[in-house]
Amino acid sequence: MKIGGKFKVIMLSMVLAVSSLYVMPIQFSQTIVAQAKGDQGEAAFDQKIISRISAERIYEDVHYLSETIGPRVAGTEEEKFTANYIKERLLSYGYEVEVQDFNIPDLKVGHLQTDNGDEVLVNIPSGSAATTEEGLTAELYDAGLGYPTDFTEDAAGKIALISRGELTFQVKVENAIAAGSAGVLIYNNIDQAGPLNPSITNSPLPVGGITKVSGEALLEDVASRNGTVTLKVNSISNATSQNIIAKRAPNKGGNHDILHVSAHYDSVPFAPGASDNASGTAVALEMARVLKSYPIEKELRFAFVGAEEIGLVGSHYYVSQLTEDEIDRSIANFNMDMVGTSWENATAIFMNTVDGQANIVSETAVATAERIGTPSELVLYQRGSSDHVSFHDAGIAAVNFIRREPRTANLEPYYHTPLDTIEHISEERLKEAGDLVGASVYSLIRKN
Ligand SMILES: [Zn+2]
Repeated sequence: MKIGGKFKVIMLSMVLAVSSLYVMPIQFSQTIVAQAKGDQGEAAFDQKIISRISAERIYEDVHYLSETIGPRVAGTEEEKFTANYIKERLLSYGYEVEVQDFNIPDLKVGHLQTDNGDEVLVNIPSGSAATTEEGLTAELYDAGLGYPTDFTEDAAGKIALISRGELTFQVKVENAIAAGSAGVLIYNNIDQAGPLNPSITNSPLPVGGITKVSGEALLEDVASRNGTVTLKVNSISNATSQNIIAKRAPNKGGNHDILHVSAHYDSVPFAPGASDNASGTAVALEMARVLKSYPIEKELRFAFVGAEEIGLVGSHYYVSQLTEDEIDRSIANFNMDMVGTSWENATAIFMNTVDGQANIVSETAVATAERIGTPSELVLYQRGSSDHVSFHDAGIAAVNFIRREPRTANLEPYYHTPLDTIEHISEERLKEAGDLVGASVYSLIRKN
């Protein structure tokens, strides 16, 4: 849907100009005055948010999270450091802050080296088997696309080097297992920064993903002379992640409905995660600063969740810890994930809902965008793949706000790569997200 915000503002000022010039029937003019007052009141409330949401503050936080801290993979020191950064900030704003620790599946960390001593960047999927501490040293076997016919007897005991394409990663690995391979390396078939992340489950073999360039180099420099590589996969067990929760209840009175704002602060390996999702995290932090100051009549909760990238683990845990009564009182979840890319094609703000249906969150955002004149098109779209799913599953109206290309719904090309950096972040679009989501949330919780 397209929003004609500016047009509406012009119409309203024309009505006001007309009513002051002409004497109108009393009943009619009273209606106009009441409407105008209502709209002006709304606009004044919006301004309390928009005038204070600082683009520079948001941008600085995105810069800090993505450049100074860098990748924030679930269970790592960097993720914990980020959690603490968020906690300290929220405390400084005067919020009551809770840290929720939870267990996450075993982390897999990998290392790949050729017999020449060359290091190859490798991504280890969580479904990979671990190796011994010395790692698996074996010859490479060129297994093409990984069809059963790509394997001969010669593949046994070697590390199958398989190209991405045509078959699923899982099927490629299964075919390698059937051929007696000792391990599997899957290389990309397109040029992407950062090693491939081949999602597979329960492999009895160690499995790694590498870039197209690395795959081709291994074929040319190592496989051709029957050289070997050493693949090490460490499994780190008892790993934990954490959610940082800030709460603000109405001073007195109020109906105690609860509104949840969420954003994940973890990233995928090798990605500084400026867009995904330092952007949503930084906007939510700025909203927390601004919304701290005003009287509210509903309860506001900020959930900065960890471990989103390994399966929405943090948000799922957060929702699981809500009591039945809290779930009943929960009216909305505004989730922000990737709200600041500067990619020129991402001209729309998508409002992803799990069922594709509008709800109180999307409707509030549409009304707010009309009032404040949000420049970007808003698109209601059916899509999961972020933390709003956890809220939706508990019966809470939820929307994920995310920038995409209209019509194709494409994400920026830097998504989940080492190129997801501050260079591809738009300060203007961060501000636009903060204004839209901030004013929307405030319109639902404020004291009138
Ligand atoms: Zn994300």
